[in-house]
Amino acid sequence: MAAFAGAHALEPYRLQQLYRAAVKELVPDIGAISVLPLELRERLAAEQFELESLTPVTLQHSADEQTTKGLFRLHDGSEVEAVLMEHWGGRTTVCISSQAGCAYACAFCSTGQAGFTRNLSAVEIFDQARFFARDLKARGKKITNIVFMGQGEPFANYESVMDAVALLNDPHGFGLGHRHITISTVGLVPQIERFAQAALQVNLAVSLHAPTDAQRAALMPVNRRYPLAQLMAACAAYIERTRRKIFFEYVMLAGVNDDDASARALAQLMRARLYHVNLIPYNATPDAPLRGTPEPRIRAFQRILDAAGVPTTVRTPMGRDIAAACGQLRAQTQPRANVRHAAAG
Ligand code: SAH
Repeated sequence: MAAFAGAHALEPYRLQQLYRAAVKELVPDIGAISVLPLELRERLAAEQFELESLTPVTLQHSADEQTTKGLFRLHDGSEVEAVLMEHWGGRTTVCISSQAGCAYACAFCSTGQAGFTRNLSAVEIFDQARFFARDLKARGKKITNIVFMGQGEPFANYESVMDAVALLNDPHGFGLGHRHITISTVGLVPQIERFAQAALQVNLAVSLHAPTDAQRAALMPVNRRYPLAQLMAACAAYIERTRRKIFFEYVMLAGVNDDDASARALAQLMRARLYHVNLIPYNATPDAPLRGTPEPRIRAFQRILDAAGVPTTVRTPMGRDIAAACGQLRAQTQPRANVRHAAAG
């Protein structure tokens, strides 16, 4: 902010007004910030200053109207997606992307199948939330939760993600409590250790997906770099330091990781008190020869964990009809049926 103020010869209180308008009042463009003198707004516009780091390209709505997927273009032409989920009951979750694409190539994930483009800046991450917060505000609603579960690996873009968390959290700005934010990681051990030291109230989710190294490495190449023993040791140290729960994500794949032996092996790994397992029904992706576990088998798997005293939940898929569910984000123009151009919406 200091650099920005210097570059544009702005007094500190003007900068505060600009920041407040952007992150609290969610003003979309500089011309609309009426507390700033017209002359200043015109000068900033003439200096090519832009308040918005992303341009909405399309918005798609699921048939049940609970899920909205936004496709956004960044200044260099890269595209990312973010998803708004308006749960019946009032909770509103926005799932945001931390990278354009992803380098981790998990077999079951559409983003990984499509490859990596680049890291997003903190503002590009934050602006996904700002976009949906503005959309909700117009309907008298607010974001209640943010999850870093869109495209990319948040811990591979650690600094920008933490800066985005600070922007989201700032009590004088956007004002979303740390406990309402969740970061999901593929399991990068050094960053889990670093995150533990930061000791924030931000929730941690770890994509586990298999209980043995052989099974996990077949699905997630990252397991060769950070095998289960190292990952689980980092998780134990995190709990020790923060006393906060960890959510382990486990995508249910038919004939791959959903048998009784896998459930028992998973229960063995999940013996710590603050471990919670989130079973995720698999969402179809274009390039994977995988099938989801049928519902009765998911329940049978869950019963084995229950019997071992491991807390579990089964995630409800949302937005599958618009390819907005977990693992389906690829920032590719989607089938026409549900596409609506943002400008018209
Ligand atoms: N890179 C981070 C965050 C992005 S994915 C991570 O790996 O955790 C958010 C969650 O969706 C992860 O748990 C991911 O493994 C899961 N996921 C990926 N592909 C999926 C699919 N096809 N069906 C269901 N869940 C999937």
